[in-house]
Amino acid sequence: GGKLAGKVALVTAAAQGIGRAIAEQAAAEGAIVWATDINETALAELNGVENITTRKLNVLSNDDVKALIAEIGTIDVLFNCAGIVHAGTLEEATETDLDFAYDLNVKSMWRTISAALPGMLAQKDGSIVNICSVAGSIKGVPNRFAYGVTKAATVGLTKSVAADYVAKGIRCNGICPGTVESPSLQQRLRDQGDYEAARKAFIARQPIGRIGQPSEIADLAIYLATATYTTGQMHIIDGGWVN
Ligand code: NAD
Repeated sequence: GGKLAGKVALVTAAAQGIGRAIAEQAAAEGAIVWATDINETALAELNGVENITTRKLNVLSNDDVKALIAEIGTIDVLFNCAGIVHAGTLEEATETDLDFAYDLNVKSMWRTISAALPGMLAQKDGSIVNICSVAGSIKGVPNRFAYGVTKAATVGLTKSVAADYVAKGIRCNGICPGTVESPSLQQRLRDQGDYEAARKAFIARQPIGRIGQPSEIADLAIYLATATYTTGQMHIIDGGWVN
């Protein structure tokens, strides 16, 4: 049983945070989950979980993405979770920072979708869920130049794919989280010097009074994987931040 019973799902950046919660929840819903990441140590914590196969995958490599998807075969649900936060303003972001953010946040989605699309087209069925962000197209967030630019691009990517393939059985949606508990969030808070003060400031900007949990984002991702009348949309989940 389960909402994704028998569906083959690929999750990028599944070793921690949102990607991990999605991999765990998809598996619990009966999907045959390929949980991938570059961090093999953290990914190994998913070894032995029913319905999950872990595999190292660097989403910066088109060859690696193509090879893994050739091995998996047809993918029913693709969860694109890989992404990196670059902290800094336009003045603080170098061209290298911007190019890297584009490569990891945007082109990773292009790579996985390109490789998964032929199989989805052949079966006239497929669901793509991209982890975008409220930062970028929905809200200008201070100190998030390269991040906001590239996360806004994931909105364009999502809508373009949705428009081109809606009549061919493929849906593509975006999730725009606000602030969510994850190892990289912990690091961003520590990087600000005073962890407790930084955490308080992050919570203070959440009208709901707390930071979100990865499982709450995963609930939405599972819903979108199965939402057969929804495509091309951004789904904001941010504790009331942009309301
Ligand atoms: P995280 O940032 O803690 O973890 C990111 C994971 O990505 C790590 O496991 C890392 O090893 C992996 N990764 C990095 N480079 C990779 C590569 N080249 N190939 C494969 N995997 C790679 O997790 P998170 O904070 O849940 O973020 C996940 C996604 O959610 C990102 O796209 C992020 O931008 C987005 N997001 C997060 C928040 C938040 O507050 N945490 C808010 C909005 C959007």
